[in-house]
Amino acid sequence: MASYKSIIDMHTHTDNSFDGNHSPVYMCDAACNKGLRAIAFTDHCEVDAYYKDNGERNVRQAFFEIAKARSAFTGKLLVLNGIELGQPAYDIPTAEKIIASQKFDVVIGSVHNLRERQDFYFIEDFSAIDVEATLKEYFAEILTMLEWGNFDILAHLTYPFRYLYARNNIREDIHRYQSQIDEILKLAAEKDIALEINAAGLRQPINRLSPEVETVARFKELGGRLVSVGSDAHYAQHIAVGIKDAMAAAKDAGFDCVTLFQKRQPMEIPIE
Ligand SMILES: [Zn+2]
Ligand SMILES: [Zn+2]
Repeated sequence: MASYKSIIDMHTHTDNSFDGNHSPVYMCDAACNKGLRAIAFTDHCEVDAYYKDNGERNVRQAFFEIAKARSAFTGKLLVLNGIELGQPAYDIPTAEKIIASQKFDVVIGSVHNLRERQDFYFIEDFSAIDVEATLKEYFAEILTMLEWGNFDILAHLTYPFRYLYARNNIREDIHRYQSQIDEILKLAAEKDIALEINAAGLRQPINRLSPEVETVARFKELGGRLVSVGSDAHYAQHIAVGIKDAMAAAKDAGFDCVTLFQKRQPMEIPIE
């Protein structure tokens, strides 16, 4: 088995996510077997569907199950209790309420859907959609989320690109949006929010990191200090998969460390 000794995975999902599959304890066991140093569980909480989806109960249940798993694995694995907030800027008072409801180690900020529209994941055909206008709107929403800014990690910056490629074979060029990307990277740098290098795309048809190394290097150029790496595993077998590629990309982009968050404080872990 590959060794993951110096590896931390800051973005994973347990079965407390609607699309997760394995319990926190099972995930911890798998992470231990792979030799991970730390794992963050960051179950989904889609803020714009919080009341409809019984979010309060789900968030509480995930938090306590992860806390139990953390005690069970004390001394063997550092377990971080996090959350992936989807669309927090669509309902800021609710997002703030969720963040204050538990003592999270890490809060990930994500945009999975535009306002009143479905998750990009569920769009089966992009041919009827004005892709450029849609993506401009998507990047504008990322910027709005950053203006709010009460989160630690900016997740999968090029999220819709995965599905454009998987559904319609469109390989979108990030340079079309470069002025928006630069604004996003500058604001994340200014607020000391970590840019995530998300490895899930390596397991998908697009076969790319999100974002790619060039964008991570641009972040560094614009004053970015913190990067984080995550597999976005929804199955135990995907824990840490692609993390080495993500760490190599961080290094190539000029970063010597990746960031771990505990009690919402960043801690730099050297890339070996
Ligand atoms: Zn996500
Ligand atoms: Zn995720």
